[in-house]
Amino acid sequence: MSDLRDLYQEVILDHNRRPRNFGPLPEANHQAEGNNPLCGDRITVYLDLEGDRIRGISFQGAGCAISTASASLMTEALKGRSVEEARHLFHGFHEMVTKGEEGEDLGKLAVFTGVREYPMRVKCATLAWHTLMAALDQKDQPVTTE
Ligand code: ZN
Repeated sequence: MSDLRDLYQEVILDHNRRPRNFGPLPEANHQAEGNNPLCGDRITVYLDLEGDRIRGISFQGAGCAISTASASLMTEALKGRSVEEARHLFHGFHEMVTKGEEGEDLGKLAVFTGVREYPMRVKCATLAWHTLMAALDQKDQPVTTE
């Protein structure tokens, strides 16, 4: 179990050091901003939606290792997926970090399973996802975790 925890830690640190899909997406047709004032995490999520399909996704921002790694892993998990799949994954991810339920096949996103023991960190881990939902729904108001 501790080996698994080390592996999870390693994945999070790696994605924090080298975030994937980082930077603005010139062809984006949806975007939203989010911030987590408790930690100081700020993020913008960019989406290139083609019909019901996420053709491109990227993010930009500054925050703690958890928020950056979560956004990075989220973009990897969602590229090429349908909007419905994205909402499904959001729900599964949220259940995992708030209730510890791992019923869904979340793949690499399971590295955040330990976050539920740290309520402050749950907001760091879910910020990117809440911002994604706002981008999908094309909300004008910035998202805040408060
Ligand atoms: Zn944070």
